[in-house]
Amino acid sequence: MITILCPCYNEEEAIPIFFKEIIPVMENIGEPFELICVNDGSEDLTLEVLLSFAQKDGRIKIVDLSRNFGKEAALTAAIDHASGDAVIPIDVDLQDPPELIPEMIVKWREGYEVVLAKRSDRLSDSFMKRFSAQLFYRVHNKISKPAIPENVGDFRLMDRCVVEALKTLHEYHRFMKGLFAWVGFKTCVIEYTRRARVAGGSKFNTWRLWKFALEGITSFSTFPLTMWLYIGGGVSFCAFCYGMLIFFRTLAYGVDLPGYASSICLILFFGGLQMLGIGILGEYVGRTYIESKRRSPYIARFCFQKGEQGAP
Ligand code: UDP
Ligand code: MG
Repeated sequence: MITILCPCYNEEEAIPIFFKEIIPVMENIGEPFELICVNDGSEDLTLEVLLSFAQKDGRIKIVDLSRNFGKEAALTAAIDHASGDAVIPIDVDLQDPPELIPEMIVKWREGYEVVLAKRSDRLSDSFMKRFSAQLFYRVHNKISKPAIPENVGDFRLMDRCVVEALKTLHEYHRFMKGLFAWVGFKTCVIEYTRRARVAGGSKFNTWRLWKFALEGITSFSTFPLTMWLYIGGGVSFCAFCYGMLIFFRTLAYGVDLPGYASSICLILFFGGLQMLGIGILGEYVGRTYIESKRRSPYIARFCFQKGEQGAP
């Protein structure tokens, strides 16, 4: 069985188009399949639309979250409810083309446990999004291990063994792309051109993308913490050299009082540097604090599948 995972947040317009496109593709493959749609606390009619489809089609399963937990948590919920031998997360806005799924299945049959779908062309994304994504991958892959493949989203095929490995990771802060890379397994890559959204708008504004990037870096690297050792060391060394310079200059030329501008600049510079360091420390301490509570990444209100128990 193949499980398709679709996190949905305010997608009332995209869902009917999504089902219309993905169901024939899955039927053509000729394997049994299920679609797990997670309603991530939508404020529009997403849940009603999902339920209307699920009431007619027993292959569609709905997991309703108690509020908006974010895409990473919605994906986690979907993974927890998946029972397929191969699992494929896909965005409901059809930016990830369903036509790629048969190709993924072929690769899976060849023995690959992970089949990544790489965006060979992101022209449907704005310049700023492409630029910031590229910067993020560069920085992340320089300071974190394992590296996450560039321009690869959540759209991928994962074998059951990968899904079971993911289910053993209980962290609250879930940067899924990083977790997918972290679990490893035998991987191959296929390429596709990213389409534009079929309906609605992106749920990730600049601020949310920034928080997401921070999540990725702090989840997989402690470099931002340890770098202060080197910055501190470098700055202390420079300060020592400057101190020596003043000392010998004073010995040679006598006391030199002027220097208000340079003093104030140095005070402000080091004040800023210290706050930056404390801020980064705060990011990690905050995350450790939240993580130590061991809260569940999501709360499900109910699950619904035609003919199953637990109907709303
Ligand atoms: N999504 C979600 N919860 C959120 C934000 C987004 O489940 O809090 C879903 C959304 O419905 C879509 C997918 O995640 O199916 C990707 O979102 P979007 O298309 O807005 O992201 P983008 O493609 O712009 O990166
Ligand atoms: Mg999208």
